[in-house]
Amino acid sequence: MTRQEFIRVSSILGIGFPVMSMMSSCEAIISKNKPYAGKVLVIGAGAGGLSMAYLLHQQGTQVEVLEASSGIGGRMRVNKQFADFPIPLGAEWIETNTGIFKEIVNDGSMDVNIQTFSDSPDRKFLNYSWFDFYHDFVAPSIKDSIWFDTQVKTINYQGDKILVDTNNGKFTADKVVLSVPLKILKRGLIQFVPELPESKKNAIGELTVWDGFKAFIEFSSNFYGDNEYVFSVNPETDGQKLYYNAALGQNTKRNVMGLFVVGKPAEDYLNRSGDNLKNFILSELDGIYNNKATVSYIKHLTQNWNEDPYIQGGYLSDFADWRTVQKLGNSIDGKLFFAGAEFTDGEDWVSVHTAAKSAKMALKAING
Ligand SMILES: Cc1cc2nc3c(=O)[nH]c(=O)nc-3n(C[C@H](O)[C@H](O)[C@H](O)COP(=O)(O)OP(=O)(O)OC[C@H]3O[C@@H](n4cnc5c(N)ncnc54)[C@H](O)[C@@H]3O)c2cc1C
Repeated sequence: MTRQEFIRVSSILGIGFPVMSMMSSCEAIISKNKPYAGKVLVIGAGAGGLSMAYLLHQQGTQVEVLEASSGIGGRMRVNKQFADFPIPLGAEWIETNTGIFKEIVNDGSMDVNIQTFSDSPDRKFLNYSWFDFYHDFVAPSIKDSIWFDTQVKTINYQGDKILVDTNNGKFTADKVVLSVPLKILKRGLIQFVPELPESKKNAIGELTVWDGFKAFIEFSSNFYGDNEYVFSVNPETDGQKLYYNAALGQNTKRNVMGLFVVGKPAEDYLNRSGDNLKNFILSELDGIYNNKATVSYIKHLTQNWNEDPYIQGGYLSDFADWRTVQKLGNSIDGKLFFAGAEFTDGEDWVSVHTAAKSAKMALKAING
């Protein structure tokens, strides 16, 4: 079953992701296992790595995070200068129910009051973002344990202690949690000693990571309305592409349109830059909206995820085979663990909430 088939079957059976995600996280909350007493290194400070470090710190386990870039968030990056509301350059929609915020902080007493609105069928933040949530509620307790500008090059898990080599020195730990994008592993940008087991290597090699691109364009008027313009690409083989009103539901008078594109259709944008890229987008919109785009254009912003040195792509295809995906999430020798949107139990993948859920599963495995 692919992710899309799973979503369809779940909705026919009346058990949406929200319910399933609540069930699995409750399991983690009531786990009777003792907190792990050794030292854990988490690699990557995106949603998966931050969730992982937060949960380890919450239970009293010694943890450090190694992050290659100079900030937290990974694919939750936000631009706050372009408009008068946050522009989400990666994760934008909340693809589950709002109970997810309490689940992530794993603390019933914490006041997690986030304003959202429903942009049916998905939910969005109101003048807020996934990045803001992680920045405000998850990162504070672990911020002093994060090493920025620290790119992991080699992980040697031969001996009792795991040795991790970076551009910023050597680190040791009893257990390591990998929370880097799948594309980083596909490209062999981290060396493992010994090599990863065959089943893990095969899963990493077989799975397809879609290209990823977003653009935001400000116009002097809203000539496009509130409905999404979805392109009819074959999602199973190609990906997804849509234009939408990015300002919908926000407290703003600005007219900002978004372009979300993953997979093959992203090539049209990834292969262009500067005026060539801008004119390509405007002429595409002029074609759809009766020549209204170019005349009302004010400015634009683009995000090419393939070019980001520590991300190198969009995300794992929605149509990957769940059995192969499941192998990504499996731990190795009780030493190497995996957490992140792509390293799940194969039930669901790709979204921020799946990264958070995978961290809970990895925590359970670490505690034994
Ligand atoms: C265009 C686009 C739109 C999306 N829209 C949505 C959406 O609407 N809703 C949603 O829920 N999700 C969405 N997603 C998916 C979501 O953003 C990601 O799945 C999620 O943020 C991934 O979290 P992660 O922690 O697994 O990985 P990442 O966020 O990629 O974090 C990995 C971290 O590892 C670091 N790293 C990489 N290599 C190394 C190394 N060698 N050493 C140390 N650190 C390293 C990176 O710098 C990065 O910070 C979207 C993604 C894209 C690309």
